[in-house]
Amino acid sequence: MTTALVNIGQLVTVRPGSVWEVDVRQDTSLTVQNGRVSAVGAGTSGAQKTIDAEGGVVLPGFIDAHTHLVFGGNRCHELAWRCEGKSYQEIARLGGGIQCTVRDTRAASEETLLLAGIQHLTWGLRRGTTTWESKSGYGLDLENELKLLFTIHRLERTLMEATGDRATRRVFPTFLGLHAIGPEHTGDRSGYIEFMLEEVLPMVARAELATSVDAFIENGYFGHDDARRLASKAREHGLALRLHVDQLTDAGGAALAAELGAVTADHLEQTGPNGIQALAKSGTIPVLLPGSVLGLGLNKYPDARSMIEHGLPVVLATDFNPGSSPTPSLPFVMALAVRQMRMTPEECLAAVTTNAARSLGLEDRGRLVKGQLADFSVWPISDWREVMTWFDGPTPNSVWMSGVQVSGTLG
Ligand SMILES: [Zn+2]
Repeated sequence: MTTALVNIGQLVTVRPGSVWEVDVRQDTSLTVQNGRVSAVGAGTSGAQKTIDAEGGVVLPGFIDAHTHLVFGGNRCHELAWRCEGKSYQEIARLGGGIQCTVRDTRAASEETLLLAGIQHLTWGLRRGTTTWESKSGYGLDLENELKLLFTIHRLERTLMEATGDRATRRVFPTFLGLHAIGPEHTGDRSGYIEFMLEEVLPMVARAELATSVDAFIENGYFGHDDARRLASKAREHGLALRLHVDQLTDAGGAALAAELGAVTADHLEQTGPNGIQALAKSGTIPVLLPGSVLGLGLNKYPDARSMIEHGLPVVLATDFNPGSSPTPSLPFVMALAVRQMRMTPEECLAAVTTNAARSLGLEDRGRLVKGQLADFSVWPISDWREVMTWFDGPTPNSVWMSGVQVSGTLG
């Protein structure tokens, strides 16, 4: 079946062959056949079905390259502690923070986690996201890390059922066993790392439950040597490496990610010129998460301008999680990046479409040109930059994956 989306006010996409340049086509149409874009600007010719975009804006489906979509419970009760001025560390001592979510995740059934995951994914979908990376890391033992990764796979199957396209992956699981030390191993860091790398990771790899691995490299969590061991295990099992680095302190995490050939270095709030140069040399892609800076009440955002000047294909992602970055919204993240990181609207769009696709090794999506997946959203606005002008403002009238309208069908 061929469907034509007509009466598009603006169709906006990163220009083929370019990292940052954006093409804006006025008063155009988009033709979809077999889940792919078959033409732009062909009108209704050859179409069996016509849909009126009512003069709105059509954007490529956003790709959220760093999320923690699946977890049990929430941390609403921590808001009162925050209002009392308690720090992240004090909240952790009161039983809050990551360990609180670990307890709730362990207590939740796979069914409960799936429903929570669908809800979180739907929040992003309704704001234009059509592909996600999603991490484990709230189980911190064998049974519960596997439970999270299974749930992430079930999320992906839910999307496949909604679109009827079983060949296209849309939720890419990352094994984040080194997120924090599991409660059973309190006081036994090396035992925990040994267990995660020698027992859990090989099992995850054999069962093909993850495409990448990740670790939280930060004072008090995991160090450079742990990352080196993880990188070597990842290589052994053919898994890509993504790393949380330089979020709270500049401990040389960007240079470490570059040295280890990580596909992405994520966070980078504290990364200085040396780290940025190392990334530029290695080709490690920076994934910036301004929602977490805002969420933690901090004010040092990553130096996106310098990264872009060094030729790095900067990615923006939500870091959606119940604590530090409780936003599923890439439009909100772009609105922050424009104000706090001086990224232009064109750079923001590339950062959540083509650059994000590249960070996940995806070549079939991110642009609205012939041959790409028909993943897009239709917005009731007249200028595409409105998406990042308003804070939590307009939302799309419809979101499409593989040429199928999915918004509203999941939950
Ligand atoms: Zn994260």
